[in-house]
Amino acid sequence: MLYSSTRSATGPFVSSAEAIKRGLAPDGGLYMPNEIPTLSDDALDELAGLSYPERAARILGKFLTDYTEEELLSDCREAYGEDRFPGGAAPLSDIDGSTVALELWHGPTCAFKDMALQIMPRLLSRALRKTGELKTALILVATSGDTGKAALEGYRDVPQTKIQVFYPADGVSRVQKLQMATQTGDNVNVTAIRGNFDDAQTGVKKIFSDPAIRDELASRGVILSSANSINWGRLAPQIAYYVSAYCDLVASSRIDPGETVDVTVPTGNFGNIFAAYLAKRMGVPFGRLICASNRNDVLTEFLACGVYDRNRAFHTTMSPSMDILISSNLERLLYVKFSARRCKALMDQLNASGRYALTHEELTAVREDFVGYSADEEMTGEAIKRAYEAGYLCDPHTAVGYAAIRADRNVRDRAKKILLASTASPYKFASNVYRCLTGKEPTNDLFALQELAAFTSTPVPAPLVGIGERAVRFTGTVAPEEMPAKVLAFAGL
Ligand SMILES: *Cc1c(COP(=O)(O)O)cnc(C)c1O
Repeated sequence: MLYSSTRSATGPFVSSAEAIKRGLAPDGGLYMPNEIPTLSDDALDELAGLSYPERAARILGKFLTDYTEEELLSDCREAYGEDRFPGGAAPLSDIDGSTVALELWHGPTCAFKDMALQIMPRLLSRALRKTGELKTALILVATSGDTGKAALEGYRDVPQTKIQVFYPADGVSRVQKLQMATQTGDNVNVTAIRGNFDDAQTGVKKIFSDPAIRDELASRGVILSSANSINWGRLAPQIAYYVSAYCDLVASSRIDPGETVDVTVPTGNFGNIFAAYLAKRMGVPFGRLICASNRNDVLTEFLACGVYDRNRAFHTTMSPSMDILISSNLERLLYVKFSARRCKALMDQLNASGRYALTHEELTAVREDFVGYSADEEMTGEAIKRAYEAGYLCDPHTAVGYAAIRADRNVRDRAKKILLASTASPYKFASNVYRCLTGKEPTNDLFALQELAAFTSTPVPAPLVGIGERAVRFTGTVAPEEMPAKVLAFAGL
C-alpha cells in the first residue's frame, strides 16, 4: 500500500515507513494511504478471539504493508503488554444503560496519547532501518502537557532516537510539569520556555523550517522528526482500539453481531475521531460519529454550517488538550470525502485567511457521518457530576464527550449503544475533578490526588503515585530565542 499527500493526487507515492519517517509530506500536506482496507464480518469475528496486541498488529498490518507480521506483532506485544497497560490496553466500562466508555488511559502517562506513542517510536525505529537511514532521529516536541510526557515515555531509550521537549513554564499543570521534569532515560531532554504554548510551538516550527539548523544537525548525524498527531504513525494505531472495542461490545453481549453503535469522541486535533471514521470505513458497524468540543467550538460550527473559521477567541479550559483552533487532522477528512485538489484549495484558503467554507453538497456529505456539539465549562462540570452519580468517575475531556451525548439525546435513537472515548485518567486533572464533584477547593494540585481518592474511594493510578517525591532531573527555563542553541547542544552530546 502506498501513501501520498492529502494535497496531491499524482504523488510522489511513498511506503508507510517513509511516511512515518517524514511525518509531513513535502508539499505541506498529510500522508494518507491510497485506499482504505476493509474488514469482513468474518475477519471481525476472528479478531474477537485475539488479545489486544494481536488485534492491533492485524489492523496495523492492513495499513503498514511494508512491515512484516512478525515485526508488528512483536512491537504491539511490547507496546501494549501488561507491564505498560496493566489490566489491558483498551477496556470497556459501562457509564449508564446506553453509554459505554472505551478507556484509553491505562498506559504509562494516564492519557490516551499513550495508545499511539507507545508503539510509534518502535515503528519509527524500524522505518529508519527500512529506509536505510543511518542518522539519529531527533524528535522535537512542543507540548501543552499530555503529548510531551507521552512522547518522552514512548521514545525513552529507543535506539537511534533522541527526544527534546519544550513546554511553557507557566502553561502546564503541576502534575504535568513534574511528570516531565522527572522523566528518566538517557536520550531525553526537557526544557521550560518563558512564554506560552504558542511561543514553544512557534519556536519548534522555526527550527524545523531553518535550513541552517538542519544542515548543522545533518553534519552531526542527526535528522529532525516530530511526534505530533499529523504523523501517520500516530494515527494508524488509533484505528485498532475502535475495532477492538466493537469486538468487545459483541463478545460481552452488550450488542448483537452487526448491530450499529454510535461513537462520541472528545476532540481537539480531530485525530482520535478521524481514527473512528477510518474504522467505520473499514466496515466496523459504527453509526453517527459525535464530535465533542469544549468552549473552543471551531469544529462544532464547522459541522453545523460548513464554515471553518479560526479567527476567534481562544479559551483556556479545564480540558486543555482540546484547546485548539486548528484541527490539523480535519485535512485528512477533506481529502477522503472530496479530493486532493479540493483539499489543497481549502487548505490554501485556511492559510491565507484563516477560514474556508464548504459547498452545501460537501457539508451534506460530511454530515452523513459526523455531528458536532460543544460544552462550556459549566456543562462540563455538570457532566463530571452526572457521570459520577451514574457510577463513573471521568476526567474533564471525557466529560465534554458525555455532555455532547446529553445534548444529542433528542435526536438519537435511544435504544442504540453509544461508545464514548474516555481519554484521560481523572487523576491527571484531579484538582478540577475534585472541585466539580465537591464544590470545594483542593489543598493544592498535588494533594488533590489524595483528596480525590479519599472522596471517591478509588485508587490513584500507579504512574501518578508519589509523583511529588521523584528526583527532578530537568530544571532549566530558557527564552524562546535560545531554543535552537538548546537543540544543537543536545544533538551534539
Ligand atoms: C489529545 C487529547 C484529546 C484530543 O484528541 P485529538 O486527537 O487531538 O482530537 C482529548 N483528550 C485528551 C485527554 C487528550 O490528551
